[in-house]
Amino acid sequence: MAADQVDVEAIRRWLREFARLVESQRDELSALDAAIGDADHGANLARGMAAVLARALDERTIGGTAKAAAMALIGTVGGASGPLYGTFFLRFGAAAADAEAVDAVSLGRALRAGVEGLTLRGKAVPGDKTMVDALAPAVDAFDQASAAGLQAALAAAADAAERGRDATVPMVARKGRASYLGDRSAGHADPGATSAALLLRAAAGTLG
Ligand code: ADP
Ligand code: MG
Repeated sequence: MAADQVDVEAIRRWLREFARLVESQRDELSALDAAIGDADHGANLARGMAAVLARALDERTIGGTAKAAAMALIGTVGGASGPLYGTFFLRFGAAAADAEAVDAVSLGRALRAGVEGLTLRGKAVPGDKTMVDALAPAVDAFDQASAAGLQAALAAAADAAERGRDATVPMVARKGRASYLGDRSAGHADPGATSAALLLRAAAGTLG
């Protein structure tokens, strides 16, 4: 396989690595949610990703794999994050369609489609203190770096997502459960932005 191609096996590695990171940081994610929400984000996502690994790993195409992951997340995560990550994977998969491998440009397009779908679904804009604050800068950084190759683009995206996560600390939440706290939501990282940074870090470790 060409070095700058992402095939369906790489997508499976990405899902497995995201599941592993979520499981290993499950308590930290729930502690962040305890500060500004209802303390279930780590448990929600760990349950969802366990269901993804149980169901989504024998598809032939990238679109089929991502769609199966989406359905598992939507079907098993009760919180807001399940439908949102589910929408991300649905739209990512629709963009990749029946491809068995994609290049850096197509991967960037699929990531952007996923983030746009999630953003339309949740109606959050950058600055609302949500996962969008990690995801939107990540897809922009990916596109800016993609001329330098897949690995460089993925690393830039993961770095941008982590900066976006850190930037949520002083923000006042305007979407989701944390918005009920008003000004008291400031001073803590957003749990969804924190898990979204893990999604991009997992991509950088497995897709390049
Ligand atoms: P719940 O809030 O239902 O308990 P989770 O705790 O699993 O669900 O997920 C909370 C995260 O979901 C938040 O930290 C935030 O990043 C994200 N989130 C909530 N509402 C929205 C929204 N409308 N748009 C984007 N992200 C959102
Ligand atoms: Mg919660």
